[in-house]
Amino acid sequence: MLGLAKRTGAKILQASTSEVYGDPAMHPQNECYWGNVNPIGVRSCYDEGKRCAETLFFDYHRQNDVKIKVMRIFNTYGPRMHPEDGRVVSNFIVQALQGEEITIYGDGSQTRSFCYVDDLIEGLIRLMDTPDEVTGPINIGNPHEFTILDLAEKVVRATGNRSKLSFHPLPSDDPTQRCPDIALARKVLNWEPQIQLEQGLEKTIRYFAALIADARTSKQKPQAG
Ligand code: UDP
Repeated sequence: MLGLAKRTGAKILQASTSEVYGDPAMHPQNECYWGNVNPIGVRSCYDEGKRCAETLFFDYHRQNDVKIKVMRIFNTYGPRMHPEDGRVVSNFIVQALQGEEITIYGDGSQTRSFCYVDDLIEGLIRLMDTPDEVTGPINIGNPHEFTILDLAEKVVRATGNRSKLSFHPLPSDDPTQRCPDIALARKVLNWEPQIQLEQGLEKTIRYFAALIADARTSKQKPQAG
């Protein structure tokens, strides 16, 4: 792909991830921070794979003048997530809508910041529209930080359901805190998220509620549209 970009002169986006910061020792994370990644843990194939992809992008850029844009995507959610994707927002919404227990991994004190998909897409378009010398990496995410317990409470409240919380073991190497510093995105892209969590959850809950209702009608498991 990078070779093709070189031959055609195309600019190419690397949809990178906040996982490159691992379990960060710096908070919030800015693009100068090199991360704190376990190279041999259960998440390493993803974390190190994405770090290696960034390395290759920058090598191709330096050696072959490939036009690159590297975007580090923090937790993102919204309609069209797969109901069995396993991510926290989709899990909690589907569980609450079905009256099931909300599965909290660990004690729920770990934090994430959740970016609504439309905001992410806007950031992506703005990055692709920047001049060639803007390579990134650039963080795209919502800087409002919530604990997983906060999220569970918000989802339960927004669905109007009374699901109970159930606590399960925390997966290995689960980052304790994650929140983007988006100063660079504000400066270079004049971008910041417009949709806050309550509003984004409402839209996402509406999507999953329709999906579950459809599945009930056709007596199938809910499938992403
Ligand atoms: N999580 C949880 N219950 C779930 C799914 C996830 O408590 O049903 C936690 C998970 O352990 C992590 C956070 O929610 O601390 C975000 O998980 P997700 O997989 O959505 O994103 P990532 O860990 O990649 O940031």
